[in-house]
Amino acid sequence: MTGHGMVRWSATLSDVQARAAIEARRFGVPPTMIEAATRRRLAGDWRGACAAADVDVQLNPDAVRRRHGALVAERLLADLRGLAPDLLRWHLPRCGHGTGRLLGGLLVPLADYADAETAVTLAAATPRFALAAGQRIILFVLEGDGRPRGAADPVSRAVLDGVHHRSADRYSLRRHRMFWDAACASQLDRLCPGTGLRGSTNAENAGSADTVDSANGAKNAGRADVLMAQEITRLQDTGQTAATWAAAGIELVGGQPRFARWLTTVPVNLPQLVERVRDALPGVERAVIRPGGGAIVLRGLDLPDGDRGVTAEPVSTQVGRDLPVVPEAAWVRPIDADLLRFGLLQPLELHPLVAAALAPDAAAVWTALESAEWWYRTVPGIERQCAYSSGSAAILVRCGSDLHRVAQLNGRWQVVDHAEEPARELLLARLGGPTNACLHAAQYLNTGLHVIDLVEPLLEHGRISEALHLLDAHADASATRDAFVLPEGGTVGEALSSLRENTLRLRMILSGAPPARDTRGTRIHALHRRRSRKGEPARLHR
Ligand SMILES: [Zn+2]
Repeated sequence: MTGHGMVRWSATLSDVQARAAIEARRFGVPPTMIEAATRRRLAGDWRGACAAADVDVQLNPDAVRRRHGALVAERLLADLRGLAPDLLRWHLPRCGHGTGRLLGGLLVPLADYADAETAVTLAAATPRFALAAGQRIILFVLEGDGRPRGAADPVSRAVLDGVHHRSADRYSLRRHRMFWDAACASQLDRLCPGTGLRGSTNAENAGSADTVDSANGAKNAGRADVLMAQEITRLQDTGQTAATWAAAGIELVGGQPRFARWLTTVPVNLPQLVERVRDALPGVERAVIRPGGGAIVLRGLDLPDGDRGVTAEPVSTQVGRDLPVVPEAAWVRPIDADLLRFGLLQPLELHPLVAAALAPDAAAVWTALESAEWWYRTVPGIERQCAYSSGSAAILVRCGSDLHRVAQLNGRWQVVDHAEEPARELLLARLGGPTNACLHAAQYLNTGLHVIDLVEPLLEHGRISEALHLLDAHADASATRDAFVLPEGGTVGEALSSLRENTLRLRMILSGAPPARDTRGTRIHALHRRRSRKGEPARLHR
């Protein structure tokens, strides 16, 4: 896990990708955001939930009612009330490196409302001017074909000008409501057969009447299917590409050697691929998967169910441009399932709706977790927060086979459960002797590294309140908060100033004012450059 190269958990998941996904979840959708958004959603305040999840709502159900009728407006409102904006943020496509920021310029359709005359679509967008203002997402209603010139108002035009129109098919979540609708979130487990997480549950249910078969056509996997899915996943993890696709009943054709290595790294969710592609693109004979770096053309999709005549041909990105694009949600392996499977994240580190779907037995723990505990997650060896004397922060550390307390006393983190003199232990450690885990944790906390390691990525993800809370809680930093130097250069004050300017620009655009020229791009980009952190493990210290 250490060293200078990449560590591959699976042929389809590198160390860099795993780390980016973990940081995106920790810093991009922290528990404070999830708690606030969930509370408001459950109270029926969908606008408040969006605000809590940093989602800018640019739609008016009354205007939709006037333009498209009561039926369309009521269906839209029902979806808005069910929308978990924090869950949408959790699942939106992200960079596979760095701290896993949201991909810019995306247009993500969520749901369609048929109108006799005009197509009406609820969509999320990530234009760069919104991401620069702290990774904000825009929620709006698309009318017509979604081209900027067809937009009904200047704000929609500005948003559509800032996105890639072609991304709409690739990232569509129209038929994958489990990625944004709280009521459908539990269906995520249907996308993960054979991951070893719910395999036994699926198998046990196989004989009983499954009355909740989804409209997408996902079928409850029987024991044989689960075992087959597990075997396919095992083959895929170990990079046996030809055997993997053959086990999934799909014949690989073409076979240009230059694509063989690339194909091994593509996280195709093979166990139910054909079934899902047919659900997403009913009636088509051919379709293309576009993972980036290449493309995979699927043929024979219109053959009768159960016919094993589907072929897959890896090709260059230039090929198959006229073919229907398979939405990513229909073909990619859900990364949360892989992070859980490899022990890189624990269930309580997942969004609670995701945890409830993938690890239902563990999900109840999350609500009992104190949010403040989150701030100490990077401490080596930490088990959890604990009580000490009144007013003193303290954590429990795994120390050999025991759990010991490390507490903050008189402004310093100290080892409290060791009979030995701390000074003697420290001297021994300096002379090359063994360091106990308690001392290691206390030293880490006293350097303030747990603050430095959290503040910068929090600011990158626009989590200003969490970053300031952390700095305020850290006695040494609070006095000179703005002057706090970030590891990648620049200060907290400069980063905050940049975020404020970009937020002002976003507000101007969303109020219908013509967008000002972007003169601050370089500053926000400077904040986004991260050190490579070679050799640092992706696994969280726990
Ligand atoms: Zn100890």
